[in-house]
Order: sequence, then structure tokens, then C-alpha cells
Amino acid sequence: MRVHSRPGATLRPLAIAAGGSWLFAALAALRAAAPGDSAAAGLERYELVAPHMGTLFRIVLFAPDAAEAKAAATAAFARVGALNRIMSDYDADSEVMRLGRRPAGTAVPVSAELFDLLQRSQEIAVATEGAFDVTLGPVVRLWREARRTHRLPSEDEVRVARRASGQANLCLNPADRTVTFLARGMQLDLGGIAKGYAADAALQELVRRGLPHAMVAAGGDLALGAAPPGRPGWKIEITPFGSAGGGALSLVAANVGISTSGDAEQFVDIAGGRYSHIIDPVTALGLTTPVAATVIAPSATLSDSLATACCVLAAGARQGIARCLGNSARALVFRRDESGRITREVHGSSPPGLHSNL
Ligand code: AMP
Ligand code: MG
Repeated sequence: MRVHSRPGATLRPLAIAAGGSWLFAALAALRAAAPGDSAAAGLERYELVAPHMGTLFRIVLFAPDAAEAKAAATAAFARVGALNRIMSDYDADSEVMRLGRRPAGTAVPVSAELFDLLQRSQEIAVATEGAFDVTLGPVVRLWREARRTHRLPSEDEVRVARRASGQANLCLNPADRTVTFLARGMQLDLGGIAKGYAADAALQELVRRGLPHAMVAAGGDLALGAAPPGRPGWKIEITPFGSAGGGALSLVAANVGISTSGDAEQFVDIAGGRYSHIIDPVTALGLTTPVAATVIAPSATLSDSLATACCVLAAGARQGIARCLGNSARALVFRRDESGRITREVHGSSPPGLHSNL
């Protein structure tokens, strides 16, 4: 973990890319407050980075001194590590992986965090009319296999994976905090929401420790806390199709989550088709339409899941994007045509912390 103190300096835009991950958002914090700004009295800007969940988690915070900054960030990163031990599908011993090994029909008690995340996922599945679906684990595995072998799954394999997916097969019982899989071979995949959830949790830890002027970037998922002292918000750069892909824009916001999803880096080319890592639950295949979505929402848990869902909805030219955003989330949907031209659509309503007029 690194600690930088650069009071008064402008943070250069960071093209965040690490661990082979697919990240489209770049970010920049506005300058630390000018000397004499009463709100900023005694606060300095610190930036701390640590690898988690297959990407880099970056914390920018304003604190009285380096020791306090480091202690708070260490606790925030520890929170992320604990959540990863619950949610990772790369760790055979994580709670979700162990859950996947239990026989169908068994009511399995789970941690409060996993139950909370699954309840939120279920709400988002309903709001997005099934576009967001954490039960797609078996289908995501087929996509990963296709990326490795450069062969599409057979119809039979897709049929089997679909039978082992679907929100209707996921039973949550709040009375005893248990999860029951109703179909054989089910496996959860939390890749579309876990980083946003972890960024929110890390930010909450910083706030709990009295450092609200902070932001947590988990790759392309950002949890923004209170603005840098003396500033209206954090200046964020969005690069929906990667840093060289065009469509970049910047915005200023505080107290919101911001996420960007798309096929900028996670895709596989097979027989002339470009299959994104984002799966359309209707076809059980990766999206083949070049779309990306940025969502600004009251939390990173919401922005993360809704950005994934908006790509599915936009690629299928389906209605429902505005509906799933409710009245406090904004989505920018980017489409790239064959000539590389990018168009942008705006959906939903601006959340209170978004200061830019999008
Ligand atoms: P994100 O980068 O947040 O858009 O999440 C993409 C990841 O979410 C994929 O790599 C899968 O692990 C998972 N995923 C893919 N399709 C879906 C979907 N339709 N609903 C929920 N999660 C998905
Ligand atoms: Mg997501």
C-alpha cells in the first residue's frame, strides 16, 4: 500500500488499469482546497492504492495527517478483503463458492453481507426486468470457457447452463437468513455488483472514522463521499470505450456512485462476432452490440448493477432503461457504429449529488 501526500496539488487523471482487468473510467480529484479555506483547515489530501478483487482499489481522502489517513484506509481495504472472501468466484473457498457446492433444495444459512447483497440483487433484477441477474453463474462460466478456447458453447451446454440459472430458482428467506437453490448446478456470479458494493463499504468505513471527504475507486466503479474541501465535487473523467475509444466526458459529483460498463476490454472474438463479458439473460450469450453505459446513482452498489443492466437493455434495444433508474439515477448509454462513430443517449433523472448538467 502506498501513501502520497500532495496537498494543494492537482491529481492528474488516472487511467486505471491493473491486473489484466477491464476498466473504462478514469478519474481526477479536484485540487485540494486553497490555503486559508476554513472547511479545509488542517486537512491534507492522501491517495492510497491496494489490489483487491482482481483490480486496483484506490482511495483518495482528506485527513489531518498521514497516520490517520493510513489507519482509515487500512481498515477500509480490510473491509474490501473481507467482502472478497465472501463473494469471490476465483477463490474456491469463498462463501459463494461453498454455497454453490451445496445440494439444491438445501436451505443454507449465509452471512449478513451476502444475504444483504442478494436481496439488493433481487430488487435490481425486478427493476431491470431480469436484465441484471446474479444467478447467471453457469452461463458466465461458459463465456469464460469460450474466451479460453475461442469456441462458442454448444446448444446443449447453453441449455444446461440456462436450466441452472434464473432468479425464480433463487429463494431467499429473511426469517432465518438462508439461501436455497431450487435447481441443480446453480452458481452465483456477483461480478456485476460486488465491486460497487465493496466500494460503498470501504467509503462507509472512512466516514465512520470521521473522514467523509473521500472517494473509493474500484476499477470502473466509484463511491464518492463528500466533496474535496472547498470544492463542489470530485471531477471524474469517463472513457466509455477505453482511453483510446472515444466518447470521453468529464463530470463533477459528490455523494454518489458512478460506474461504467461495456465491452472495452472484456470480450472474445469468435467467427466474426465480438462477445462481451456482459450476458443477455434472454440469449444466455455475451452481448454482441457495441454499447457502454455509465450510471450515476445514490450508491455504487446501484450504479454498478444498473450500468451492467443498462448495457443489456440497450443492446437488446429493449425498453425499460428509464424505468429501472427510478427518479434518482442517471444513465448515459453510448453506442458505437461500424465506422467508430459514438452516439450518446441520456436516461433517467439526475441524482442530487451530480453537479454537471448531463
Ligand atoms: P460489470 O463490469 O460491472 O458490468 O460486470 C460484468 C460482470 O458481471 C461479468 O464479468 C459477469 O461476471 C457478470 N455479469 C455478466 N452479465 C450479467 C448480467 N446480465 N447480470 C448480472 N451480472 C452479469
Ligand atoms: Mg456492474
